[in-house]
Amino acid sequence: MSAFRPDSFIVSDVVPSPNYDERKQGRAPDLILLHYTGMASGEAALARLCAPDSDVSSHYVVFEDGRIVQCVPEDKRAWHAGVSSWAGETDINSCSIGIEIVNPGHELGYRDFPLRQIAAVISLCKSIVTRRGPIGATRILAHSDVAPARKQDPGEKFPWELLSESGIGHWVRPAAPNIDGPTLKSGDRGDPVTRLQRALSGYGYGIEETGSYDEATRAVITAFQRHFRPARVDGVADASTMLTLRALLETRPAPLV
Ligand SMILES: [Zn+2]
Repeated sequence: MSAFRPDSFIVSDVVPSPNYDERKQGRAPDLILLHYTGMASGEAALARLCAPDSDVSSHYVVFEDGRIVQCVPEDKRAWHAGVSSWAGETDINSCSIGIEIVNPGHELGYRDFPLRQIAAVISLCKSIVTRRGPIGATRILAHSDVAPARKQDPGEKFPWELLSESGIGHWVRPAAPNIDGPTLKSGDRGDPVTRLQRALSGYGYGIEETGSYDEATRAVITAFQRHFRPARVDGVADASTMLTLRALLETRPAPLV
């Protein structure tokens, strides 16, 4: 596609991607999905997101120096989420705005996100929330939250606490990782597992109540830990993980109408 006007004045450059279509049923976006690029360089990632044969894209790319590039207009449906689910909805591309954050990722040398890059992500999220009307705090999410079995990004080094301090996203201080208490793990079965699955699903995760701590449950707990209890990411629902989940459910803002 040809150049377009950026949606926000904090965008440095527009690099149009042909990889997008229309939001289904004209769905207005009310979810922000954060990714890491997972490639050796930001330029390589940008090239891929704009290559006609890649079938992937994102509305924005945020570089490590804080530069923000827009590739797809916000009112179009960019292709960044893939097979995913949140709060019962599965066409996440239709309801979300995608932000790719440059970082090599777990496969190529996962590293801390520079502060100036995080500041740019915060400014961008604030700009989106301000311009597009209310976006619920529990709908500013990691790719791993909506696709826990497939995705790890932006990963446990992503500083959700800093976003929360700036009013972006829902976050509580996690319970200490080593507190004593009941633990659920792979292979466990029964009502406590069902209740855990119900709590995760109640927060928004796409998980079924099977009563069995299966591979899907382990994946969702791992995703939960990456976002909300990053001190230990091991897929085990220890007491700290469950207390943190309970605190999130108790402090969850009322749904926006
Ligand atoms: Zn991603």
